[in-house]
Amino acid sequence: VFGASALGQLSEVYGELAQAAGAAERLGEILAAEPAIRSPEHPIALPSPARGAVAFESVRFRYPTRPEHAALDGISFTAAPGERIALVGPSGAGKTTVLQLLLRFYDPDEGRVTIDGVPLPQADLDALRQRLSLVPQDPVVFSGTVLENIRYGRPGASEAEVEEAARLANADGFIRALPQGYATLLGERGTTLSGGQRQRVAIARAILKDAPVLLLDEATSALDAESERAVQNALDRLMQGRTTLVIAHRLATIRAADRILVFDGGKIVEEGTHESLLAHGALYAQLASLQFADSFDESARSRDPRPKHAAE
Ligand code: ADP
Ligand code: MG
Repeated sequence: VFGASALGQLSEVYGELAQAAGAAERLGEILAAEPAIRSPEHPIALPSPARGAVAFESVRFRYPTRPEHAALDGISFTAAPGERIALVGPSGAGKTTVLQLLLRFYDPDEGRVTIDGVPLPQADLDALRQRLSLVPQDPVVFSGTVLENIRYGRPGASEAEVEEAARLANADGFIRALPQGYATLLGERGTTLSGGQRQRVAIARAILKDAPVLLLDEATSALDAESERAVQNALDRLMQGRTTLVIAHRLATIRAADRILVFDGGKIVEEGTHESLLAHGALYAQLASLQFADSFDESARSRDPRPKHAAE
């Protein structure tokens, strides 16, 4: 009873769910929560052209499976069109949950989230998700060719468009070096890509999708120096002219942000630039001294690149 396009959309949603969940064991919970999320019968059209403005207004949220714990406990912030916002804070502070609510995998218990002024539950779900590109921490590739894996960002894209996106994502070089180039099979029974290569495939998808709002969950694991430069350079290109919310772990990303939101215990506890937050001498300064101690001297790091990650 499903047409090919409905199935395609379904698999896209599931793919995004799987990526956002980040852990396979959570997929069941999210799928169980999914029936609550429905596209409205009479949606409000999102303004066109898209601007890419995002707002959280006094958002409170508890995961249905953990009703005793507030994952978000009164979150308010706005992202202006084109603004680059870094989300930082300890593990469990609520950063990924912010991205999940924006993708409308869940609805808040209180408060609201808007995109271009439209509260998410009032927008058509497909139209809403067309405005958002997610580049997850550990992107998945599915069984299929490299071409199919990238085209997933925009199913109607031509081969030339896929290759152009791959070039912009710094992926074209390694793809051409694969046994069958763009026709190389990936996934369980195909070629295995490194973490840095999978990130560039995900960036190429996002370039093809061309959404005005970009959600990045920066990788925590170290890439080899060459892959890291290629990924960073591709991300810089992708972020141009888009509103970006990035869950940031690297000092360079945080410094490049227009604004940093510091999360702790489901609240935004500090907000500012890297310098102003260091001067404030509170949680951010503390995190910075622990987390970025090794990367404060960027030149030292480029002379002495970190060892390759085991999975690379
Ligand atoms: P961060 O990304 O800052 O590490 P998260 O947004 O992932 O934090 O998590 C915020 C809180 O919500 C944490 O207490 C976490 O354990 C909880 N949480 C995250 N995902 C789920 C889930 N799928 N089900 C139940 N609790 C969750
Ligand atoms: Mg997270």
